[in-house]
Amino acid sequence: MMKYGDLESFIARRRRLFVLTGAGCSAPSGIPDYRDAEGRWKRVPPVTYQAFMASEATRRRYWGRSLVGWRKFHAAAPNLAHRALARLERLGGSEVLLTQNVDGLHQTAGSEGVIDLHGRLDRVRCMGCGARTARSAFQEALARRNPEWPALEAAEAPDGDAELDGVDFSNFVTPACSACGGVLKPDVVFFGESVPRDRVERAYAHLAAADAMLVVGSSLMVYSGYRFVERAAASGKPIAVVNLGRTRADALASLKVEAPCEEALAFLL
Ligand SMILES: [Zn+2]
Repeated sequence: MMKYGDLESFIARRRRLFVLTGAGCSAPSGIPDYRDAEGRWKRVPPVTYQAFMASEATRRRYWGRSLVGWRKFHAAAPNLAHRALARLERLGGSEVLLTQNVDGLHQTAGSEGVIDLHGRLDRVRCMGCGARTARSAFQEALARRNPEWPALEAAEAPDGDAELDGVDFSNFVTPACSACGGVLKPDVVFFGESVPRDRVERAYAHLAAADAMLVVGSSLMVYSGYRFVERAAASGKPIAVVNLGRTRADALASLKVEAPCEEALAFLL
């Protein structure tokens, strides 16, 4: 039963862990990952911020796929990894939980000290006036304007997306902001978009207060998450990594556990 004994003692020795989670944490909840065990793209890379903002055709395609993909994404439930990290927080072992995931499953599992580094898919933001609205309301608006679409069946893709190959998006209607007519975008950080500065600074402040870092289920191929590992290493904080597959932090980690997150963290429950 002490298979993960090194991880247990790493966690037990610290009281203020800076926890960083990624897609591997949500994979057991049925939310697919973008990358394989070597950190390479498994599928077509997601739409960039620039492409989304520049073209109505790109937005039709994004929201058409998302209209179909949302149902399963929205229905996903937390798994043992989320519950173990919520328990770690209740035990007083977590300084903060910074997640690269946009699914809100840490909060559903009961974690309170969470920073959503890349935003939340359950909110929609107007790029004109900045108003934020609930995705559930926008989902209803999308379905009302595109009544044939919700019936489409499709394979799931990451971030509430769906694989809709060979579908014509030209007649898809994307509602605009009801207040200002602006472009509506999911309230998540797209590829090619920066994480808001105050959010990064808030996370850095927690990292400064932490005594160690624990990475759970991320290959850290995206710099927006990797920079926290760099900062932790530069300030001499020990780093443990739980991930199935290679990560960009392997050389900096004092402990690497190559296992599914929900299995490696189960001792916390
Ligand atoms: Zn607006």
